[in-house]
Amino acid sequence: QVADSLYIINQFAQQYFAEKLFNSEEGEDIAMSYLKERGFREEVIRKFQIGYCLQDRDAFAKAAIAAQYNPEYLQKSGLIVVRDERPYDNYRGRIIFPIHNQSGKVLGFGARVIGKVDRAPKYINTPENEIYHKSKILYGSYFARQSIDKNDECLLVEGYTDVVSLHQAGIENVVASGGTSLTPDQLRLVKKYTKNLTIIYDGDAAGVKAALRGLDLAIEEGLNVKLVLIPDKEDPDSYVNKIGASAFQDFIKANKKDFILFQVEILLKDAGDDTNKKAALVNQIAETIAKLNKTEDFTKQQDYIRRCADLLRIEEVGLNNLVNKFIR
Ligand code: ATP
Ligand code: MN
Ligand code: MN
Ligand code: MN
Repeated sequence: QVADSLYIINQFAQQYFAEKLFNSEEGEDIAMSYLKERGFREEVIRKFQIGYCLQDRDAFAKAAIAAQYNPEYLQKSGLIVVRDERPYDNYRGRIIFPIHNQSGKVLGFGARVIGKVDRAPKYINTPENEIYHKSKILYGSYFARQSIDKNDECLLVEGYTDVVSLHQAGIENVVASGGTSLTPDQLRLVKKYTKNLTIIYDGDAAGVKAALRGLDLAIEEGLNVKLVLIPDKEDPDSYVNKIGASAFQDFIKANKKDFILFQVEILLKDAGDDTNKKAALVNQIAETIAKLNKTEDFTKQQDYIRRCADLLRIEEVGLNNLVNKFIR
């Protein structure tokens, strides 16, 4: 019952915000021009049902209340906030990214400041409520499903704009985690679509760390994980806009790395000549490889033992024995 009301309110809000983006002077001058400047074209803006919330204190709240929506549910939806017994619009002056579920219903919103981020936070998201559970959401999955099926692969990026820009570049099998590291629920969702997950995170240290944190979890879920690192200071959105769609597709193809082997590489780099560190990393890799066992794939495991032993310059039997110790 509450859930139904929230879906209906969100649908109303999505249409209201889209209308303001396309058909108001403020929307055109401030929001649409910003989106176009960033390289988003009208077609993709419509497809993702992007909108704009006017700067006015309570234009949306007034419209929603006039349309008989329940103020209590409007608050629950996060669309309006009540202060001193007066409602105001939570997303004033922001670009609105609706977040859809599997069947295309709007669960909530991400709302971005326009232009340079001089007022924090850059994004405001829907608060947890009966239908919006951040840890279970993959942004873009509604629009990605067909392409994920066709390619038998799911690309994972960090942000909303990454998803939208990649669609515009003709890459549609892409979803976003929403910035944080992957949750078990999100991984389980991916696994319902495909076993092949390719993580395309920002090349900065934070991006790499976030990606690595998801690795063991993904392997336990039986996913084949690949990784593409975007050059430093860029993200998939900025990079595809910089080099163009076809160069970006080539870049992805040329830079897709097996995630386990990638982990060996960066840990090795990190360990340098330190024998203690190296011993610890061999253990860590063995533990990761051991997890493959739970997911039935013996040949795959043997293959990793061979390739990792090679990279680590240790005996294959030695690594094999170590892996077996981690298998219960
Ligand atoms: P843009 O290109 O518009 O700057 P982005 O997606 O590149 O957006 P990032 O800073 O890379 O922004 O963050 C990645 C994702 O993390 C965002 O798309 C958003 O989902 C989430 N996020 C970022 N900042 C916040 C915030 N302050 N509050 C909540 N979520 C956030
Ligand atoms: Mn980043
Ligand atoms: Mn980013
Ligand atoms: Mn970005």
